[in-house]
Amino acid sequence: MGSMTIQENISLQAHSTMRLGGNARYLVEVTSRTEVEEAVSWATEQQIRFIMIGDGSNIVWRDEGFDGLVIVNKIKRYEVFAEDELNHYVTIGSGENWDEVVARTVQAGLSGIEALSLIPGTTGATPVQNVGAYGQEIKDTLAIVEVFDTKTKSFSNLPSSDCGFGYRTSRFKTTDRGRFLITGLTLHLYKQNPQPPFYRALAEYLEKQNIHEYTPQVIRDAVIAIRSSKLPDPTTVANNGSFFANPIVDELSIEELRFANPEMPAWPAGEGYVKIPAAWLIEQAGFKDYKDLETGMATWPLQPLVLINENAKSTADLLSFKQKIVGAVQTKFGITLEQEPELLP
Ligand code: NAP
Repeated sequence: MGSMTIQENISLQAHSTMRLGGNARYLVEVTSRTEVEEAVSWATEQQIRFIMIGDGSNIVWRDEGFDGLVIVNKIKRYEVFAEDELNHYVTIGSGENWDEVVARTVQAGLSGIEALSLIPGTTGATPVQNVGAYGQEIKDTLAIVEVFDTKTKSFSNLPSSDCGFGYRTSRFKTTDRGRFLITGLTLHLYKQNPQPPFYRALAEYLEKQNIHEYTPQVIRDAVIAIRSSKLPDPTTVANNGSFFANPIVDELSIEELRFANPEMPAWPAGEGYVKIPAAWLIEQAGFKDYKDLETGMATWPLQPLVLINENAKSTADLLSFKQKIVGAVQTKFGITLEQEPELLP
């Protein structure tokens, strides 16, 4: 098929920043929309499953591997789509490294995604869980998601309003999981400086550094400083970022929980609901700076929400460590933590 090379029996460990998992039966890198279409029709002809991935920063592969075609997204593009004095629309290939995109927009003095600095992975992965950090979410600047619809076998442009965005969620990971292969995004950025009030951790950092002029670059630098002070670099430490989602409970439940645990932190999460920091629950359950000799897994000393693979041998080790944490939090608080990175297939 075309100019693409389909590889056989490839280890998936290099395609997950946790560096665990079995083999892919087939694997192919795609660099254009045409190649996406070709890869899908090849898999369809072979009657095998297919899946599109980015850099693997949010993927946990099973030890059994993937008995189909793994399509690795390398679609590159960066084009100004439209602009005027205030607005700037840019269309980006979904295989572009996200942080390089953020750096590029910030360099151009544009605001809208500067707080999403240093998030690992590809651009195309950001809408799937509506990536958010330090008060910004990708949905706030996303105008259009360009997709290959595997149902109709055609390309289409989904406006942001059709993507079912919510807190760390979208239709891409719920009702239409696996249906759309994201090939590009158009972002709506602004030719202006970021406006306060900022997310608390960010505001505190800026205040402490005595910074009072807020450019996109200043915010990017601050976010990078905060993140790198507490998160491991996935190129040197095997990890998938936050391993658990922050649980959301209703206001009645938090009152009950606080009878036994008056100190339990919680933040507003929409009408009638609050979110509890999973990191706090994990710490309280005894996993602060914890090394698990049995599995070769550990929690990151500066942020227990990040599980790291020190010398685990398999995904089974990771899942057994995960279960220890989930069980301990469940016993102590009656809250079931949900895994955030996707377990594939
Ligand atoms: P953090 O800032 O210590 O926050 C932990 C939890 O407390 C998050 O649920 C956060 O809400 C909430 N929170 C903290 N300050 C808040 C405030 N002023 N108002 C409302 N809620 C507040 O978390 P972290 O682990 O170091 O992560 C830093 C940022 O990156 C956070 O925004 C976090 O959500 C984000 N992050 C996102 C992903 C993802 O998109 N999958 C993964 C990892 C981290 P928010 O989630 O609404 O910020």
